[in-house]
Amino acid sequence: MPTTVADIQDYSPRELTELAERIKQWGRELGFAQVGITDTDLEAHERYLERWLAAGRHGEMGFMAKHGSKRTRPHELIPGTLRVISVRMDYLPPEVETTKLLAKPDKAYVSRYALGRDYHKLIRKRLAALVKHIEDEVGAFGYRAFVDSAPVMERALAQKAGLGWFGKNSMLLNPQAGSLFFLGELYTDLPLPVDAPFENEHCGNCSQCRTACPTGAIVDDKVVDSRRCISYLTIELHGSIPEQYREAMGNRVYGCDDCQLVCPFTRFTRASHERDFAPRHDLDRASLVRLFAWSEEEFLAKTEGSAIRRIGYIRWLRNLAVGLGNAPWSETLEAALRARLSYPSELVREHVRWALARQYEKRQRLIARS
Ligand code: SF4
Ligand code: SF4
Repeated sequence: MPTTVADIQDYSPRELTELAERIKQWGRELGFAQVGITDTDLEAHERYLERWLAAGRHGEMGFMAKHGSKRTRPHELIPGTLRVISVRMDYLPPEVETTKLLAKPDKAYVSRYALGRDYHKLIRKRLAALVKHIEDEVGAFGYRAFVDSAPVMERALAQKAGLGWFGKNSMLLNPQAGSLFFLGELYTDLPLPVDAPFENEHCGNCSQCRTACPTGAIVDDKVVDSRRCISYLTIELHGSIPEQYREAMGNRVYGCDDCQLVCPFTRFTRASHERDFAPRHDLDRASLVRLFAWSEEEFLAKTEGSAIRRIGYIRWLRNLAVGLGNAPWSETLEAALRARLSYPSELVREHVRWALARQYEKRQRLIARS
């Protein structure tokens, strides 16, 4: 059995195929729903990215443009990369509400991927375990693991590795699993055989995602204008949320799943029993008022190890204020907003004033009707 890098060059095509099969088997044993292998040629996706950036659709996400061709050419990012092992892991915890919660305007809707512990750590650990298996078999080899952490075209690589197709909502869709899964990658110098790309696109005449998008952010098939997307507005945007999108945000306070929830393929979602993905602090059902009442210390304590932590307390309050502005009027809710009127951050105060103005209007309408 070969045990060094040099030895891998002596593997026959059949031995490399068997190694690829074992890698996939180890991946499944480690909890990945699917593992595929592809090369580093992303030329077609490079052109798409260039057009998207040229149109400014990345908004404030300067990091999307920052690394030039390193994003679309894995061998430029990590010299020596020959193959990318692409993995996916389902994340929706069992028995959490999705669309039903969106219809409860006094509750906060947190994107379902962010309910539990931050997935980056878990997937990175599993990728490290996969590396260990490979090393035990072939000896030291060149690799780098990524989980949404570097300039990596993860969906494009996954499509090329056979894991799914690009839906009109720009998400990667799998015919047996929908799109509620995380992706991770292992860049490697192993000359593994590649899988066939996922060529069939099953969207057909469906365009439910485009119709359902609350802010009209899906401006063309597979093209999302981030500047209108609620995920971007609530997570990536640092400043004030443009007023024209606030009402459409409804109760979505961290991310948005609408274009995935309406997708017919989402019914094939497989629940994840990973403990790390289980909801923490009732984030799958908490009321807007309750979350808005968290002090900064509580926010920091309760979001420790969670993806939500990265937006910080001020943007958390900003997003919740918008949700509260959109909720039906109640005395408790109005009082919660009033209590934040003199909050030190002008960003928060401005959103609170907007929310209160909407709440006053609703109260007036109730009075007029009674
Ligand atoms: S995440 Fe929400 S806002 Fe963004 S494209 Fe999908 S439905 Fe539209
Ligand atoms: S909702 Fe329809 S068009 Fe949109 S991604 Fe799903 S199948 Fe494709």
